Amino acid sequence: MKLVDIGVNLANSQFKSDLVEVLARARDAGVATLVLTGTSETSSEQIQGLANKLSTEFPAMLFTTVGVHPHEASDYSARTSDRLRDLATQPGAVAIGETGLDFNRDYSPRDSQEMAFQAQLELAAEMQLPVFMHERDAHQRQFEILKHYRDQLTDGVIHCFTGDKTALFNYLDLNLHIGITGWICDERRGAELQRLVHNIPLNRLMLETDAPYLLPRNITPKPVSRRNEPAYLPWVLEGVAAHRAETPETIAAATTATAVKFFRLSN
Ligand SMILES: [Zn+2]
Repeated sequence: MKLVDIGVNLANSQFKSDLVEVLARARDAGVATLVLTGTSETSSEQIQGLANKLSTEFPAMLFTTVGVHPHEASDYSARTSDRLRDLATQPGAVAIGETGLDFNRDYSPRDSQEMAFQAQLELAAEMQLPVFMHERDAHQRQFEILKHYRDQLTDGVIHCFTGDKTALFNYLDLNLHIGITGWICDERRGAELQRLVHNIPLNRLMLETDAPYLLPRNITPKPVSRRNEPAYLPWVLEGVAAHRAETPETIAAATTATAVKFFRLSN
């Protein structure tokens, strides 16, 4: 089994001390490829540095996105798009994002979030790169903005989808992909997602840990640390398979093929 973890926050300080062990465990668990999430200018640059440094020990394993998370949107300035454009031309950079709207936390004002989101959609359209998107409690607005840009974009994924049926069907109508995290392994918070996941066409489904966040609750025995890591991706696969008709093996093969195609992964 070879899996692709399409969302890993490897620049997070929780991975500072044991990065090599984390990647070795991922590889041993069949997680052959990681797409590292850029969430700011700084972190986008940082993960490129990490991917470069680790490429000898883990060849063709690490790819990166380049973007500014809605939480950081108030930092998006006139020169940010130029900086992101530069970073996106580096080897191993495969998508624009993480970008989108988060009206749950509202860490940045909503108008800054919309401005930064639109600027990054324009960049993705210009560079013909897929978009890696976040959305929390902002479906209606995100859908409206995406509708406007969809024809210019190649592909887009709503990562860590946790929305309702309307949101899911609207995103699917826009021919977007859906990323599923360990949220689905939470019997309480993930109940709605468990009911919805069978509606996602198999060729538009991808898996992610969003590590170090969202430790899957179905892991046995329960890890001592609350830190999630890419080696736990098979538990997300289990969580998805428990609520779909296909076997875990079929879902593993399909989600990997989809991720390879979506992010145009190659070494
Ligand atoms: Zn996110």
